[in-house]
Amino acid sequence: MNAFVDGLFSGKITQKRELVIDLAVTGIAYAKIVEPRTLRKPVLNDWSDALAVVVQFGMSSFDELKSELRSEGYSVQITAAEDQLLERNLQGIYLTQPLLEGYWLNIDYDSDYLTEKLRRLLVIITLGSVFVVAVITFSLIVLIEHYVTQPIVRLERNLELADEVGGLPHPSDAKDEVSSLERTFHGLYNQLKSSYEAIKTLAETDPLTHLLNRRQFNQTLEKILSRIGPDRKLALLYIDLDNFKYVNDNFGHEAGDQLLIEFSERLKHQFRPTDIVLSITNAISRLAGDEFCVLIYDFENDAVIQKAAERIVGMFSEGFQTAIGDFPVSASVGVAVYPRDGTTVQELIVNADASMYQAKSAGKNQFAFYSKELADKNQRFIQIEVALKNVDYSEFSLFYMPQVDSQTGLVTGVEALIRWNSPSLGFVSPAEFIPIAEATGVFRQLDLWVIRKVLSDRAQLLGILGSDARISINISAAQLNSGSFFLDLMLITQQMNQSAKNLVLEITETFAATMSETLSSNLSLLKQAGFELALDDFGTGYSSIVQLLDYPIDEVKIDKYMIDRLGYQKGGMVKAMATFFKSFGYRVTAEGVETQDQVEMLQRMDIDTLQGYFYSKPVPIHQLAKAIKVNKKGPEGPLTLIESN
Ligand code: C2E
Ligand code: MG
Ligand code: MG
Repeated sequence: MNAFVDGLFSGKITQKRELVIDLAVTGIAYAKIVEPRTLRKPVLNDWSDALAVVVQFGMSSFDELKSELRSEGYSVQITAAEDQLLERNLQGIYLTQPLLEGYWLNIDYDSDYLTEKLRRLLVIITLGSVFVVAVITFSLIVLIEHYVTQPIVRLERNLELADEVGGLPHPSDAKDEVSSLERTFHGLYNQLKSSYEAIKTLAETDPLTHLLNRRQFNQTLEKILSRIGPDRKLALLYIDLDNFKYVNDNFGHEAGDQLLIEFSERLKHQFRPTDIVLSITNAISRLAGDEFCVLIYDFENDAVIQKAAERIVGMFSEGFQTAIGDFPVSASVGVAVYPRDGTTVQELIVNADASMYQAKSAGKNQFAFYSKELADKNQRFIQIEVALKNVDYSEFSLFYMPQVDSQTGLVTGVEALIRWNSPSLGFVSPAEFIPIAEATGVFRQLDLWVIRKVLSDRAQLLGILGSDARISINISAAQLNSGSFFLDLMLITQQMNQSAKNLVLEITETFAATMSETLSSNLSLLKQAGFELALDDFGTGYSSIVQLLDYPIDEVKIDKYMIDRLGYQKGGMVKAMATFFKSFGYRVTAEGVETQDQVEMLQRMDIDTLQGYFYSKPVPIHQLAKAIKVNKKGPEGPLTLIESN
């Protein structure tokens, strides 16, 4: 090395005689320490003037490459020996390449740099992933919202609204799955709706008349009652067709059905919207067979209801004409008004029903408003009905009421009258319990008991009255329409070894407004068997006098009602009737004779027999002899009036 450049390198020689050169760039340098004067190696102990001659070859391209590699995280070093390299315990990516003799180029990757770079990369990837996930999520949400959620919400809302608006809106025509689902729903909904409506109609309405049935009517009324205040009014008109059974029995059930259909149709037309605030379909219902109910809401006063009831009754003023013929039916209507006559469904129905029965028993084809009196009467009816069903026959006894020949004043017979002393109800008049026994079917046993009792008293009675005395027994009207009555009677008389002679069976005038076959044959059989027949209570029923001629009777008993009115027009009516009946050979008896004046008038009218408190009240058999003792003296003296119940 012959050249040296002063000042090109800075460096210093250390105390240990080492030359330390600061090289800014990589290069190959050769250095020699020389003594300036000799240019030889300085003497060992005198280094003060020594110079270092350094020859260096710059490696700028190498440095560029090196800095480039460094910028990518590589560490580039030239080492003097391979051993040094091994000492570094290289790991991962590295390269060792021999350069000049004894020098090695070592390239290895800086793990910190790599870690840092990886970390950054990781951060970038993470952020990138988060971003991508966010974008995808957002897009998915938007898409799901648009194509799934919104249509499902719309479908759900439509389904919810469907009930209120009465159907689902027309589904969208879009091709997506949810719209197709919506269309399927729409179809299913419509099918379900029509099935539901068909089932609902079946469950709520009467299949024959299409009016509400009893269950639905009760629910409707319940709903109305829960909504209206006590200051509002609601009337319940309970309608029952009279003689409807007659139509079914005589014209067949098809005719009965037709009658019900036409009646329900016409019933609807009896009401104006002003009468019924509720819709017609909610206000009229068929509760059972021939029972209907009408609700009238918020009316001004009872006159409105009265008119409505009159219109219903008026529908039958000339029977009931239908497409298949005219039927002899009418309607009885009972009215109960909320809150006056009841505040619950049960109370209103029971009370309207009770009023309807009142209308029916008062003669049919009329209406009756509910009244407390009526309710008490019904209550009493039920009590008597129950007591009669469980009656012990020892609670009954028979009283006898004398019947007197009007001309001679002699007792010619007695009428047997039943008395009931019930342990629970006390004394109950036959006028009260006999119609209940007839209505509830207990009459049969009761009449047979009376007949047996009379027959067992008969010997004693004839002993008191004389062997020719007649004994009259009241027979329940319903008995004569029973096929078994005659046989029962024959059996009893036979068992008790008794004859029918002088036994008079009293039947009421009301029994036979129409003559049935059973009735007619019963009367003839009784007559043939030797019983006498008396028509009781004449003047209170409906049968015309001419109609009576059809009956094979022996006696007509003119009711107390007529006798009480003898004072009017000088008793002309009773006189005319007596003359008429007598001209047909009937014996005529006047009932309820209470005064001397009546006796005298009736005597003048040539009435045969008199019966009444004027002579004697009904008495038990042991008092009978005393009751008629004066009479035994002869025709001059009247019978002694004996007080008894
Ligand atoms: P009826 O057969 O017309 O009997 C006459 C009723 O009028 C009796 O009432 C009698 O006490 C009453 N009476 C008679 N004369 C007078 C009078 O001058 N003044 C007053 N105030 N009343 C008078 P009773 O015993 O209460 O019987 C009522 C009805 O009950 C009877 O009317 C009859 O239809 C029925 N009945 C009575 N006993 C029997 C019976 O054993 N069997 C059946 N099926 N019915 C009976
Ligand atoms: Mg009688
Ligand atoms: Mg009578």
